[in-house]
Amino acid sequence: MEVIGFGGVICAASIMGGLAPDLDHKTSTASQKLQLSSGKRKLMRALSGIFLFIGCVWILLGYSIQVGAIWIGAGIMAGSLARLRTIILIASGALMLIGYAMYDWHWIALFTGIALFIMPFVKHRWIIHSPEFAIVLSLGLFVFGSQHPGLVMASCLGFIAGWWSHLFGDIFGSDGIRSLFVPKFKIALRLFNNGGAAERMISKLCQLVAIAIWIFYGAVLYF
Ligand SMILES: [Zn+2]
Repeated sequence: MEVIGFGGVICAASIMGGLAPDLDHKTSTASQKLQLSSGKRKLMRALSGIFLFIGCVWILLGYSIQVGAIWIGAGIMAGSLARLRTIILIASGALMLIGYAMYDWHWIALFTGIALFIMPFVKHRWIIHSPEFAIVLSLGLFVFGSQHPGLVMASCLGFIAGWWSHLFGDIFGSDGIRSLFVPKFKIALRLFNNGGAAERMISKLCQLVAIAIWIFYGAVLYF
């Protein structure tokens, strides 16, 4: 029973780890989970502009400031809904940084906090996709996991496996991945164009293999 539980946690964590690197891309599968559909985002952006305009004109023409402020507030709300992904990433990053600064959390909180904070602003497949980032992230998660054996360690290992399998999958694409400090060091096998159906299939396959391997390890460790 416990093995199934561990396998499930490792599985779920590795799927998350496999999706997470592409949070640095505006319309990746992972990002879509954090934002409205593109049609609704457009609508919210348009509404935001209209509301802000009405609010400002209202106040400038000398009508009630309170009513103008309500229009402006509605404009800010609509604008925030249009940028839900950015706000969620920054807020979770801030949470991690606060935990690190005030509650003495592990340094992996500082690291992921900064990563989440910069995620909406960095170029796709740059820092977040670099092997250097993956090494520090894996090290941090592993050290943190070792301090909390059991399910925490299992999910850390799953996340690490998912993350590396994602990078491994990206290597096959035309963009590839590159080193952060030695940008000339780039691995791109160019087997397919990034964004195509082949990319999706290969990344799914890599994830399945990674998950199978970790479930196998989990079972071996347990028995
Ligand atoms: Zn990627």
